[in-house]
Amino acid sequence: MIKVCKFGGTSLADGTTMRRVAEILSADPTRRYVVVSAPGKRYGGDVKITDLLYECHRSVEKCGKAGEAFEKVKERFRGIAFELGLTFDVEALLARTEEEIEHERSEEFTASRGEYLMGRFMAAFLELPFVDACDIVRFSSGGKLDDGKSFALTAAALKGKKGAVVPGFYGADRTGRIHTFTRGGSDVSGAIVARAVGADLYENWTDVSGFLACDPRIVDDPAHIRSLSYKELRELSYMGANVLHSESIFPVREADIPIRIKNTFRPEEAGTDILPMSRYRYDGRIVTGIAGKKNFAVVYVEKSLMNSEIGFARRILSVLERYHVSFEHMPSGIDTISFVIDEEQLKGGTLEKITEDIKAAVRPDQLRVFDDIALIAVVGHGMSRNVGTSARLFDAIARAGVNVRMIDQGSSELNIIVGVDNENYERTVRAVYEEFFR
Ligand code: ASP
Repeated sequence: MIKVCKFGGTSLADGTTMRRVAEILSADPTRRYVVVSAPGKRYGGDVKITDLLYECHRSVEKCGKAGEAFEKVKERFRGIAFELGLTFDVEALLARTEEEIEHERSEEFTASRGEYLMGRFMAAFLELPFVDACDIVRFSSGGKLDDGKSFALTAAALKGKKGAVVPGFYGADRTGRIHTFTRGGSDVSGAIVARAVGADLYENWTDVSGFLACDPRIVDDPAHIRSLSYKELRELSYMGANVLHSESIFPVREADIPIRIKNTFRPEEAGTDILPMSRYRYDGRIVTGIAGKKNFAVVYVEKSLMNSEIGFARRILSVLERYHVSFEHMPSGIDTISFVIDEEQLKGGTLEKITEDIKAAVRPDQLRVFDDIALIAVVGHGMSRNVGTSARLFDAIARAGVNVRMIDQGSSELNIIVGVDNENYERTVRAVYEEFFR
């Protein structure tokens, strides 16, 4: 049995939390490979090391020096070394890192140093070998993860090692230049290591006990999700449930490795299991979770006999492509087609240009734009098994007095997406939650 354990920033915020991590690891000898984030916040209002490092980079850009922000980084790491009684030459490591940051002048290199330093400290504390992510996580020259190469390099580097510490969040391209994932990317690094060593379980240790059925800022004390499938997770995390980086499932999915979300501060709690379909067991729930996001625009195009006009959708899609705009959903009727687009992408006159070009490309009878739309994803494999789910869903929304602006149900029947005005977002989530969970 092999487990790969990734610890997030709050689990590694200081010496005390790092001791907890060490206890968690020693409680189970199958927890062999450890992937670490950079130290996170110790208390509300504290600053994450990664944010300080982005500030260092701005300072290097301005005056060539990592400056005040790096002083704070050094203080944090000195504090950790003191608390844990680390005896290696911490000062030399910090000084060398500062020099490299000033010499490299690269944002991604600088941002990666939080994980690098934490990896070095954790390896020293646990007395395990340190395996640098720049030697095992490979990016292509375009900055995309080369997963095949990364799995092979990681497997080779960890082969024969009973345990190791690997820093998360970064890797390097063929020339050795450091690249980072998007924020929260240590989750992806953990998944790469789990896949490469053929782990039985990828444990992702964080500061919450897994996924909740909906946002606790909207509904008081929502139900805990004990287990869900990769597919359900993908839908929920894409739509804003952000316990885990939304790309972390890709490395482990094909190898059927389950992910378990655990709470470093309450290790006795069960957490949430994310399972491949081969291990997923339907437990009678209709809805697994509800997630959502605000601020979408719907571009609605209507034209009689659109259904028989060949190439109609393609002509609209090429307009979007020309402006590098991606769409989230594309609900359609016989004579209508709509594109749901994140409003961020339509700023600065892009929306006006797109609508003009669509008019020229397909000569619609009507083209309208609805903005400030919120999308709510109601997710669960159970929905396809239970007759009347959508009736209950829309009835609950109607009883809350909310007008539905858009509906999209994927043919997978894994989710139903409902569009409502931004101002009705919270009310709708509450109504749906009440219907399916109380
Ligand atoms: N330290 C990075 C961040 O703050 C990556 C991570 O923690 O996963 O986003």
